[in-house]
Amino acid sequence: MTTPRIIPPGSTIGILGGGQLGRMTALAAARLGYRCLVYAPDNHAIAGDVAAGHVRGAYDDTDTLGRFARQVDVITYEFENVPEAAVAACLEHKPVRPGVKPIHVAQHRLREKQFFAALGIGTADYQPVRSEAELAAATALPGILKTCREGYDGKGQARVHDRTSLAAAWQALGRDCILEALVDFQCEISAIVARGVDGATRCFPIGLNDHRDGILRTTTVPAGLPADALATAERFGLALARGLDLVGLVALEMFVTRNGTVLANEMAPRPHNSGHWTIDACATSQFEQLVRAICGLPLGSVDITAPSRMENLIGSEADDWPRYLADPSARLHLYGKGSARPGRKMGHVTFVQPAGPGRSPTT
Ligand code: AMP
Repeated sequence: MTTPRIIPPGSTIGILGGGQLGRMTALAAARLGYRCLVYAPDNHAIAGDVAAGHVRGAYDDTDTLGRFARQVDVITYEFENVPEAAVAACLEHKPVRPGVKPIHVAQHRLREKQFFAALGIGTADYQPVRSEAELAAATALPGILKTCREGYDGKGQARVHDRTSLAAAWQALGRDCILEALVDFQCEISAIVARGVDGATRCFPIGLNDHRDGILRTTTVPAGLPADALATAERFGLALARGLDLVGLVALEMFVTRNGTVLANEMAPRPHNSGHWTIDACATSQFEQLVRAICGLPLGSVDITAPSRMENLIGSEADDWPRYLADPSARLHLYGKGSARPGRKMGHVTFVQPAGPGRSPTT
């Protein structure tokens, strides 16, 4: 298979996964003249609602994956838990960007931590807990016990204070875990880095993130942190994108400790919730940047166009949509999901600081 260097507007992008990240990618792609075809096992995929089509298939159905791949020009994924075998099946037909390596690393917390260390990216102290012997040897208390696989939005993890709660959590979470020392952080931040086919990189301005119950609630940009912490965060993000040999986007979530040290928490090789502000307050959105990167186009400017704060609308919070529509500083995004279950991300709103006097049109 030879891959053309540039996949021009008019081509078709395949997206593995049918959620809101795929939906916003498809919207950005459409603006640049691309079609998107979504692959997801669900009967209804909200990304499919705004794309040229939705191929319904399981991630282990290599025949249907092959049929999907033959209909598109390049493939990306919108979630990091897509099985490696599904990506490999697609790769037999078309380029998949960012490819297998980023999900191989991101799908296992221990592997991810070791990868960070090899790149000089600092993390919290941690210990693998995969056996009775490692459980007995674990000392990072108080800490957070995390499953190595398939944890997200605070799921698959438990705060543990002593040996008794550690042993109970280990039994409950399954045995492939790591114990992380609790970080006494002043704040959480993220870097989102794009890397193109030619190796060019761009890091979006660092976002300041507020989580509650393990779920992102708000992202504020500019982050308002000292320049050295921002520079370290950007350096870590760029090192990660290069280390993964990535073509696409990668998000790196980090802690800033009370003494200003930056520690990586986890990565996601895809658009990230903490980058949604870029749709309304950056020269190029993270979704457009992903399209540019995987299609071999020049990366766009990451200049902030206005200070902003993104708020997730979780569960019934999305019912407040009339209030946001009435607020001239609010940019409302609803994902078209049917039922507002507790904890479900239904949309987001970005509050954009209005242009100052004399800058806004008067007619
Ligand atoms: P994660 O699923 O690893 O992204 O964790 C979800 C959230 O839990 C993070 O955004 C933090 O707010 C918190 N958290 C995770 N790991 C730690 C840690 N080692 N120390 C303190 N808080 C943590």
